[in-house]
Amino acid sequence: MTGTDTIVAAATPPGRGGVGIVRLSGPRAAELATLLTGALPPARRATPARFLDAAGEPIDAGLALFFPAPHSYTGEHVLELHAHGGPLVMEALVERALELGARRAEPGEFTQRAFLNDKLDLAQAEAVADLIDAGSREARRAALRSLQGEFSVMVRGLTEGVIELRTHVEAAIDFAEEEIDFLADRELGARLDALRGRFERVLESARVGRLLRDGLTVVIAGRPNAGKSSLLNRLAGYDAAIVTPLPGTTRDVVREHLHLDGLPLHVLDTAGLRAGGDLVEEEGMRRAHTEMQRADRVLFVIDAAADPAAAAYREEAARLPADVPVTLVFNKSDLLAERPLADPPGGPPRLLLSALTGAGLEELRAHLKSCLGYQTLEGGTVSARRRHLEALARARAHLEEAARQLRERRAAELVAEELRGAQRALGGITGEFTSEDLLARIFAGFCIGK
Ligand code: GDP
Repeated sequence: MTGTDTIVAAATPPGRGGVGIVRLSGPRAAELATLLTGALPPARRATPARFLDAAGEPIDAGLALFFPAPHSYTGEHVLELHAHGGPLVMEALVERALELGARRAEPGEFTQRAFLNDKLDLAQAEAVADLIDAGSREARRAALRSLQGEFSVMVRGLTEGVIELRTHVEAAIDFAEEEIDFLADRELGARLDALRGRFERVLESARVGRLLRDGLTVVIAGRPNAGKSSLLNRLAGYDAAIVTPLPGTTRDVVREHLHLDGLPLHVLDTAGLRAGGDLVEEEGMRRAHTEMQRADRVLFVIDAAADPAAAAYREEAARLPADVPVTLVFNKSDLLAERPLADPPGGPPRLLLSALTGAGLEELRAHLKSCLGYQTLEGGTVSARRRHLEALARARAHLEEAARQLRERRAAELVAEELRGAQRALGGITGEFTSEDLLARIFAGFCIGK
């Protein structure tokens, strides 16, 4: 029924406030405005009004704002009642709208209507939720950029590039009988390569955007007593985990949610990896491995005083997940007379620090930011979701396949098919090709009244 009935919800959060806003959207919003306030308020002008119940008695008095379609958030007639922000006032106004035939809005339904009426594309609609949920100033800025369409413009640019190539390749199919061999055209290969380069840049920006939204998961692993819990406490700035000189103190996974210059950081301290622990410790180690599989990075902590050659890492390396990057953290630098040797070529990056004194902690923070490409934030990033990254990666895979087909077989139909696939994947980001199910899931993640 979306788009045909008139919906109502409190647009301000539950609780008490100076002002509370009830919003209505739909074809009957003008009629309901007249019934609720006694007269249709002039378009887009804050108009003092009394909000009336069924008996014509005022529920409250405040401002009424009427936005005639299509110049409103949803693209439909929208009425906003700015009342006093008390839960009973809000509920009485919503109840009155329901009596008059409106229906309670589902989560995200106002924004869903804005999307269906082409006020926003899907990536922008998602940015509305990300802006509301932003956990840091950087995440807020990135969400606003996406909401203003910066991410959509990047994706559309890629789509246009794909369409241009498709046009070229499909001409080759249509004129297959002619003398001209479109596919032999070197320019086509070069354009495909250039487009792949543009994909990399958008993917990079989206990757940072996703980190800003979802944060980065770092798992602290290593032998018992290497100083894992101490490192977590240092990063957190308080005692989140129990530190003792007894090996095997941390038996379960301890999670901390921190911020690194606006980047949400989920740090997990895990049970020490060693042979011969008891059952509880074994379970702890199993959980440690599960967490490592899901991590964005593993900080493998080594007691630099006891194990300067990082033997513990060499023993464990084969059991660490192959595709999760590792940083070797040599802890207890305060106990060392001199620095250990520089990075051996090819191995994971190494850092020397002391969780006890805090020396080297800044370098660790900088290292985490830099290996995530987070420094590119200066140029301004957009917000993005895992869904967007997956779609971009799918589109890129189609392009790579198109390039291969062109190179190896000159099979125009297959190249065209891959390009169509790339276009479809990109269209899923902005909502041109998106299933009903996916839409329902995306908007269900919103709050009511948005
Ligand atoms: P975990 O088992 O790996 O979590 O290690 P803990 O954080 O519990 O630390 C084990 C022991 O090492 C404790 O006695 C800590 O005080 C000590 N320790 C941790 N970090 C440092 C450090 O940087 N320097 C020194 N000297 N001791 C440390």
